[in-house]
Amino acid sequence: MIEEKIFAGHKTCYGCGVACKKNAEVKDGPFKMEKGPGPEYETIATFGCMCLNSSIESIAKANEICNRNGMDTITCGSTIAFAIECFENGLITEKDTDGIRLTWGNSEAIVKMTEKIARREGFGAVLAQGSLKAAEHIGGNAADFLTTVKGLEAPMHDPRSAHGYGLAYAISPRGACHEASLTFEAEGGTIFIPEIPELSSDLPEGSEGRAELNVAAQDYGMFFSNCAVFCNLGGMPLNATQAINLVNYVTGFDYTLEEVLAAGRRLWYLKRGLTNLFGARAKDDRLPRRLMTVLEEGPTEGSVPDMDRMLAEFYELRDFDSDGVPTKKVLDQVGLPDLAALLHQS
Ligand code: SF4
Repeated sequence: MIEEKIFAGHKTCYGCGVACKKNAEVKDGPFKMEKGPGPEYETIATFGCMCLNSSIESIAKANEICNRNGMDTITCGSTIAFAIECFENGLITEKDTDGIRLTWGNSEAIVKMTEKIARREGFGAVLAQGSLKAAEHIGGNAADFLTTVKGLEAPMHDPRSAHGYGLAYAISPRGACHEASLTFEAEGGTIFIPEIPELSSDLPEGSEGRAELNVAAQDYGMFFSNCAVFCNLGGMPLNATQAINLVNYVTGFDYTLEEVLAAGRRLWYLKRGLTNLFGARAKDDRLPRRLMTVLEEGPTEGSVPDMDRMLAEFYELRDFDSDGVPTKKVLDQVGLPDLAALLHQS
């Protein structure tokens, strides 16, 4: 469908052999758009599957609107899906939505609402704040339809299929984000780092070992994705030795695995501490009810992450107090005494 209806050529970042990007173009019809960056997986899943929308042209158009206005497609598509569920359940009507029938699969309404969000116009101004704020505005049981952690809409990787994702979403500093660590690549089997046992072992299905996996994926991921800025897709084939060698060749430094893991760990604690300073506590390290609902059919039938177990193990490994704040001792150990002083002032 993509190839027939919107595909307009491959694109790549400079020198990358993976070339994951696709251009899209819609030549005519209500979703006409000039040739430009096409929708990727997350965008197709949010504006498509989440909204029960089968029009790939409308997804390409919504993607173009988001790109041109600096809007994240996961948040925008998920927020519109949330609004559709509110509409379908009678929590909002056409009076609230400026006359737009926000029903499942209504591709024209989805694109119109994307435009209104971009312009903060009418009901678009409510949705432009994201689904968490919109749920507060709408009231009733709207919060039941949220997929947010710390206010950020979850990406299209279901923690019921891989429980480590659930822990990764819950404890990520910026909320439910699949780029916050390498947990997704490690548990999903797309990276294999033989130098780090937790990132190269076969885990049984379920929640066992996911706390250790997350800690290792955070420490190494902070180095790999945040400090060295490797692309998580293009960099997948690299093991740790190759990645560190590349950094050393370019910088002239002589980093070891232990040093990059120490830097990654320090960076992770810095982010966590800043999140704590903004007010996040243990109560915020939780998945929304929607993602903890047991499905009665399909590939993830009967499977939900054991969040209590994983969080307890993770807090112990990271040396958090019961409120979700790293202890002074661990912050001093990783080289963040100023942060320790701010978080433990008494
Ligand atoms: S894999 Fe990464 S570096 Fe390569 S084209 Fe895609 S985004 Fe760019």
